[in-house]
Amino acid sequence: MADFSDLTLDVSRLRRDFPILDREVHGRPLVYLDNAATTQTPRQVIEAFDDYYSRYNANIHRGLHTLADEATAAFEGTREAVRAFLNAAETREIVFTRGTTEAINLVANAWGRTNLTAGDEVLISRLEHHSNIVPWQLLAGELGFTIKVIPVDERGVLDMAAYRDLFTERTRLVAVNHISNAFGTVNPVQEMARVAHEHGARILVDGAQAAPHQVIDVRDIDADFYAFSGHKVYGPTGVGVLYGRAELLEAMHPWQGGGEMIKTVSFETPTTFADIPYKFEAGTPAIAEVIALGRALEWVGEIGVPLIGAWEARLLEHATEGVLRIEGLRILGTAPEKAGVLSFVVDGAHSQDIGLLIDQLGVAIRTGHHCAQPLLSQFGVDATCRASFAAYNTPEEIDVFVEGLERVVGMLR
Ligand code: PLP
Repeated sequence: MADFSDLTLDVSRLRRDFPILDREVHGRPLVYLDNAATTQTPRQVIEAFDDYYSRYNANIHRGLHTLADEATAAFEGTREAVRAFLNAAETREIVFTRGTTEAINLVANAWGRTNLTAGDEVLISRLEHHSNIVPWQLLAGELGFTIKVIPVDERGVLDMAAYRDLFTERTRLVAVNHISNAFGTVNPVQEMARVAHEHGARILVDGAQAAPHQVIDVRDIDADFYAFSGHKVYGPTGVGVLYGRAELLEAMHPWQGGGEMIKTVSFETPTTFADIPYKFEAGTPAIAEVIALGRALEWVGEIGVPLIGAWEARLLEHATEGVLRIEGLRILGTAPEKAGVLSFVVDGAHSQDIGLLIDQLGVAIRTGHHCAQPLLSQFGVDATCRASFAAYNTPEEIDVFVEGLERVVGMLR
């Protein structure tokens, strides 16, 4: 069994922050291991909603009254919290979106439309979530650029030699995730950025699975764009972040028009746009969600990302040891550098059936293609079971999961 004794995480205290962890499912204590899909929300984040709607619900930026001032300050406070979380140089490099998906679509539309043309090339890894594939496919269909795929080996690790060989003088962009949601592979994004920049290309990093499992430093990575979602960092759904290097954002055209994103609007002279980041935040944003995201990042900061990452690595080790006892179980994704994601298939037992039956034991895992069909097809499967870990999971919960899995697989074979 993995040794947790040197880690200072007070998991029982931390669990008290999550009301949902007290609930039962089918008469059993909930064991929630679907954290790569969405993490649970601490009461501090839930209370941030209550506080906003009970005390200072108002539209931001344009009001002169006290409530509008308070809401604006809290909203902009989150922008600063996100800047610090990513170690970005300036708050104007932080754009609020609805999530990672919208952030990537923003880059595709606002950067891609003016920087990509027929004959250009975009490199996308086979490890990508559909969110970092389909926006580029849609745009390629319109503009006629080519998508080239960075291959992965049998461990689910990107082939870096092949990556370097894919570059030509027409390569404009690399789109890659920091951590794969399907296999947990941690990608060498810093090295990938270095190679991309050497060839004059830009790099967009999909960080949906990296935050908050490891410390993110967009300047150290040298990312041009970096995206993540609130609901995977103990925050709410409906909010996410795009980091963009200031000079790139400044040069980009808006992608959605409306209030908030303009300087002047006229029928006689050209409409002019607000400075970054507001140029990319058309309409009333998800104010409460943004404020609550700030609270989530504060909560994460109080525990510490390195400690969370170390705890999850230990959970992964413990779970890996446990599931490998099951005959006919194959783990997909065996990268040496891996985050807290355990994807597997079992001979003679369909993933969907495993997911349904183990839910009867109170254990929530994910089954399916994890929005990574190109990756799964390379491994000859159309679905896997995936257990993924968060700060509040315990070794005892992993034992419940492994014992449950043994039982379920026994029933199905
Ligand atoms: N990219 C990765 C790697 C993900 O894991 C996910 C969600 O699972 C996304 C993108 C999409 O995130 P969202 O649905 O929050 O926009």
